[in-house]
Amino acid sequence: QPVLAVVGRPNVGKSTLVNRILGRREAVVQDVPGVTRDRVAYDAFWAGRRFTLVDTGGWEPDATGLQAAVAAQAEMAMATADAVLLVIDASVGATATDEAVSKVLRRSKKPVLLAANKVDDDRLLADTASLWSLGLGEPYPVSALHGRSSGDLLDAIVKALPSMPRDGDRATTGPRRVALVGKPNVGKSSLLNKLSGEVRSVVDSVAGTTVDPVDSLVELDGDTWRFVDTAGLRKRVNSANGAEYYASLRTKTAIDAAEVAIVLLDAAEPLSEQDLRVLTMVVEAGRACVLAFNKWDLVDEDRRHAMVRELDRGLVRVPWAEKVNISALTGRSVRKLAPALRTALKSWDQRVPTGQLNGWLADLIAATPPPVRGGKQPKVLFATQAGIRPPTLVLFTTGFLEAGYRRFIERKFRERFGFEGSPVRVNVRVRE
Ligand code: GDP
Repeated sequence: QPVLAVVGRPNVGKSTLVNRILGRREAVVQDVPGVTRDRVAYDAFWAGRRFTLVDTGGWEPDATGLQAAVAAQAEMAMATADAVLLVIDASVGATATDEAVSKVLRRSKKPVLLAANKVDDDRLLADTASLWSLGLGEPYPVSALHGRSSGDLLDAIVKALPSMPRDGDRATTGPRRVALVGKPNVGKSSLLNKLSGEVRSVVDSVAGTTVDPVDSLVELDGDTWRFVDTAGLRKRVNSANGAEYYASLRTKTAIDAAEVAIVLLDAAEPLSEQDLRVLTMVVEAGRACVLAFNKWDLVDEDRRHAMVRELDRGLVRVPWAEKVNISALTGRSVRKLAPALRTALKSWDQRVPTGQLNGWLADLIAATPPPVRGGKQPKVLFATQAGIRPPTLVLFTTGFLEAGYRRFIERKFRERFGFEGSPVRVNVRVRE
C-alpha cells in the first residue's frame, strides 16, 4: 500500500493531525523535540483507499540544529514515501525552517502536499494564502484540534498517492482452491479417490464448449473445496513418454491456480530432490501449504521416530508448514487435512495492522539492532504489511539488511503473530 510521510517542525501539530486523519487517538501527542515514539506508522483509510501514514516525528535524525534536523527528516521522507505532507503552523506563518524544508521538498519528484494547521478560526484563513510562496502548491487550511476540513486535505492526499493493486490476484468467492501435488506415485490419485468418497461433482464443463472437466469439488469437514486441475489425476495417464515433464508442468499449473497446496510426501522413503523441487515451487509461488506424509501405514512402529527427525532435517525451508501423517490407502488421518488447510489459509489471509506491527518492531530492533555494515548502523524506520496472499512485509530502512537479519525478523514476526502454514515475505526498501 502507498506510503504518506508527514513532516514538519516540532509543535506544528503533526501528531494531532495524524490522529485526526486516523480518526482515533493512537499516535502520541507530544511534539517535544527528541522524544522518541515507539510507533511511527499507521494504517489510514479514506474514500475507499488504504495507505500507510508515517509520522516522522519519531525518526530522531542525527543532524544537529532544528533546521538541519527537520531537513534531514524531509530527505528521509522523500526517499521512503510515495508522497509527503508538510505541516506548517498557520498561527505562526512560514518560518525560516519551513522555507528551508520546502526548498528540500521542491526538489522531490514525488507529490508534496501542504497543510496549514491550527487554522482554528476564520481570521487565520486569509493568512494561509501567503503560504503559496513556499512553492508547494495550494495550502490546505486545517485545524487538527477542531477537525476543520481535513476532508479536503484527505481527498488531495489519496489523489496524489499512486494506486496499488488490490490484495490477491483472484476473486475470493466460492470454494477455496487446493492443489494436490507431489512426485509421481506418492499417492495423489489414491488420496483424491479416497476424498472422492465424498466428491460431489466434477466441475468446469463450461457451457457450450467441449473442454475437459479440470477441477473437482470435494466436501471435507463441512466445507466445499475446489481441488484444481485434477483431470490428469483422475485419468491416471501414467508412465508414457515424457510423463515426468508433464507431471512437473501440471504441478506448476495446479500451484498457480490454487491458494493452498497439499504437498504429498512419501513417509516410507527419504526426501528426494523431486520433493524439494515441488516444495520450492509452492514457496516461490507464495502459496499456503500443508505437508502430508502419505503411506504412513508402511512406516514401522520403531522407525517412526527416526523418520520424523530425518524428514524435519530435510524440511528446514518450511518450518512453518503443518505436517499431517496420513494413509490414502487406509484413510488414516485424512480427516486432519481440512483443519490444516483452514489454518494455512487463515494465515495466508492475515494482516497485521501497521500500528501494532511497528510497536512490536520498535521493541525488537531496540533489543537486537541490525548488524553494522561498512561501519554503518542501518536503521529500520518503519514497516508495513504491504500485502496478503502471501503476507508481505516491507521494511523501510537507511541501509541494506543482511539475509540473516531478515530471516531473524521473519522468525520473530511468526513467533509474535503466528502465520502457521503460510509463507511470509520480507522485503526491504532502502532509502537512496
Ligand atoms: P500418484 O502418481 O501420486 O497419483 O500416486 P498413486 O495414487 O497412483 O499411487 C501410487 C501407488 O502408491 C499405488 O500403487 C497406490 O496404491 C500406492 N499408495 C498410495 N497411497 C498409499 C498409502 O497411503 N499406503 C500405501 N501402502 N500405498 C499407497
